[in-house]
Amino acid sequence: MRKIPLLLLAAITACAPVAPSNAPAPIDEEHPRLEWGMVLHGGAGVTPTSYTAAELPLMQATFQSALRAGHAILERGGSSLDAVEAAVRILEDDSLFNAGRGAVFTNDSINELDAAIMEGHTYRAGAVAGLHRVKNPITLARAVMERSKHVMMIGDGAERFAAENGIELVDPSWFRTERRMRSLRRAIEDERRAANPGGTAVVPDPTLRFGTVGAVALDKQGRLAAATTTGGMTNKRYGRVGDVPIIGAGTYASPTCAVSATGDGEYFIRWSIAHSICARTELAGMTLASAADTVIMHILEATGGEGGIISLDSRGHVAMPFNAEGMTRGYVGPDGRLWMKMFR
Ligand code: ASP
Repeated sequence: MRKIPLLLLAAITACAPVAPSNAPAPIDEEHPRLEWGMVLHGGAGVTPTSYTAAELPLMQATFQSALRAGHAILERGGSSLDAVEAAVRILEDDSLFNAGRGAVFTNDSINELDAAIMEGHTYRAGAVAGLHRVKNPITLARAVMERSKHVMMIGDGAERFAAENGIELVDPSWFRTERRMRSLRRAIEDERRAANPGGTAVVPDPTLRFGTVGAVALDKQGRLAAATTTGGMTNKRYGRVGDVPIIGAGTYASPTCAVSATGDGEYFIRWSIAHSICARTELAGMTLASAADTVIMHILEATGGEGGIISLDSRGHVAMPFNAEGMTRGYVGPDGRLWMKMFR
């Protein structure tokens, strides 16, 4: 019996790229252990100029009200699943996040939304991708989990399922905002310049996708859940699906570990980032903090990706490492005090 974990550990280690020896330490802080509570993110890639002076307090107020909504549910003994869904819905409805209203645009100037939710103690999961008309994608993801025998539904089929299940549909114009349209124009212009002979290579601009949202929660019964919603990356091509609805990449929950990710989706998919973190805690005996740091710095950073994660384990440890300039993040525990930060 003792050999199995060791073999698995060897396999996990062998699969991980080796970090450069000078890899910087990931950005994370010490956090208190939460007996129960919720951790929330509002996306990696945020910079001091992402929000105007007028927008910033509005964005922060919405973020805090999402934390409060999760806290209220957990405090009265509600489930972690209800808490993460409620918090993510609030962020989806605010155009200052890249989820629901205010989502980034595809190359074809449309908004295409992805979301996933997972319940740790049952390993049940629901995911949706390529949505144009579902006002709250996270609620549809939950319906896929609870009311269908499937895990993932996409595009027209997912929207048909939404209609059949009484989930609110809106005109696609609901999601459009002028500020995200400006980002698209800029991204297309950058791409055009880079493609010209002698043009300069354009480094993908993380500020063109900031605002993805996600939550992980631990309830009084010790149950974990994770939820994530995004409009994806500005200027993404037709049919592109990111990491968010891929279970184990951008969203994952087990009986002992829950993760919601944000950042360059393709990297999170290739390295199954969310599951990789939980697997290290469950199979290799790592603490949540060191598993999360290892994966963000030794895999994401070492392979050129950018982003971060929020995570909680069943003992209430919180880890939120990221390797971007900023990641909007926060948490709340039993005392109801809100902790929120965007940069270091
Ligand atoms: N991970 C998201 C995606 O690639 C984007 C983000 O988190 O900013 O679709």
